Amino acid sequence: MTETTKPVLRFAPSPTGMLHIGGARTALFNWLYARHTGGTFLLRIEDTDRERSTPEAMQAILNGMAWMGLNWDGDVVYQFARADRHREVAATLLAEGKAYRCYATAEELTAMREEQKAAGKPMRYDGRWRDRVPGPEQDGKPFVVRLKARQTGETIVHDKVLGDVRFENSQLDDMVLLRSDGNPTYMLAVVVDDADMGVTHVIRGADHLNNAARQLQLIEQMGAAIPVYGHLPLINGPDGAKLSKRHGALAVEAYRDMGYLPETMRNYLLRLGWSHGDDEIIPTAQAVAWFNLDSIGKSAARMDFKKLDNLNGHYIRETADDVLAAEVITFAEGLTPPRILSETARTRLKSAMPGLKERAKTLVELVQGAEFLFTDGPRTLDAAADKLLAPEARAILAQALPALEATDWTAAALEAATRAFAEAAGVKLGAIAQPLRAAMTGKANSPPLFDMLALLGREESLNRLRAYAA
Ligand code: GLU
Repeated sequence: MTETTKPVLRFAPSPTGMLHIGGARTALFNWLYARHTGGTFLLRIEDTDRERSTPEAMQAILNGMAWMGLNWDGDVVYQFARADRHREVAATLLAEGKAYRCYATAEELTAMREEQKAAGKPMRYDGRWRDRVPGPEQDGKPFVVRLKARQTGETIVHDKVLGDVRFENSQLDDMVLLRSDGNPTYMLAVVVDDADMGVTHVIRGADHLNNAARQLQLIEQMGAAIPVYGHLPLINGPDGAKLSKRHGALAVEAYRDMGYLPETMRNYLLRLGWSHGDDEIIPTAQAVAWFNLDSIGKSAARMDFKKLDNLNGHYIRETADDVLAAEVITFAEGLTPPRILSETARTRLKSAMPGLKERAKTLVELVQGAEFLFTDGPRTLDAAADKLLAPEARAILAQALPALEATDWTAAALEAATRAFAEAAGVKLGAIAQPLRAAMTGKANSPPLFDMLALLGREESLNRLRAYAA
């Protein structure tokens, strides 16, 4: 491929809501294909619908993209700022007889649809102004500009994912390009922008497939180049039904807050609709090397939280301890209310990371599992820990206290002393180790106990122990 024919891809979200995972997957696939081919990945915010577009949604999209690690090339293109250019194209089409002014009033169109409905016909614009020349009575009256679409034959969308999809032209009516207030419609804006931005590949959700047939006709009328289309099948919930909020149709920020890593999300969303043999673990660098449009699946993908959790556990374990500790610190600071860790807590967190990360599937679980390292003093017990610290267990702790006080404060020495105590007292190791763990951590589970005792240090450990030794 020469420099000039490198693919140009774009992600074109409408800022009417958050960046949800369906959108994030579309962005990811475009990004991966651009990075795989050495092409360009552009971001266009489709804010043409002024009533539904909000600055908050725009910011949420930019934040979501940044968090997902999907960097775009060049400046963000804002569609509404290009409205003059869209009007210019509409004017050219009008001048060339490829579009026309339609003066039908809202009442006339409503009556038309009601007649069609009553006759059991599909409701669509009947082309009443297609060949009509406006007379003096139309002077100063509002009009829309419609595309003079082909009325016979068919339009075929050659789709990289779905194959050839055929549309009878008789089913497509003359779509509106400019509204009566002179503003471009989404259909016009998309096509003009893609052409002007040199977009070669349009990869987007299958909900846009019908639009593609209409857009193709407009592209042809404009004499622009037809892009390669790839419409991605929808993402369904685990039960196969349409993805709802309950199923995880959430903003990517919600996934961040649930403690998933961006690398996990990229891998997971890649697998929702794209495959490479049976590979499940595909880190981003590998995905960039492998990604192609041919392996996008044709059928709807299913959301699977268990898989997402397992993948996240994998990437948590793969992350270097100091990097992960830094992520946990940032994550904790972002909680409401923020958890700000002291220097001691940060050091402890880093040292305990090898044991902690084995036990966590999300950053939320990591923070919970590391809680006992964040502050000093006796722990508040959870239900399981409370059970472990029944009166008999507290008595055993009290008996063991002198032996522990006398030992060197290293993991090995602490383990030897605890074992010796258990043997002498005629109890199992667990009878002392479990209550000890509960007293140290407030929980029944933790990274290896003696490592944790060593990490907390003599004074802090004994302080926690004495609170429950009785
Ligand atoms: N703005 C459209 C959307 O958010 C996407 C348009 C396109 O990708 O062609 O659904």
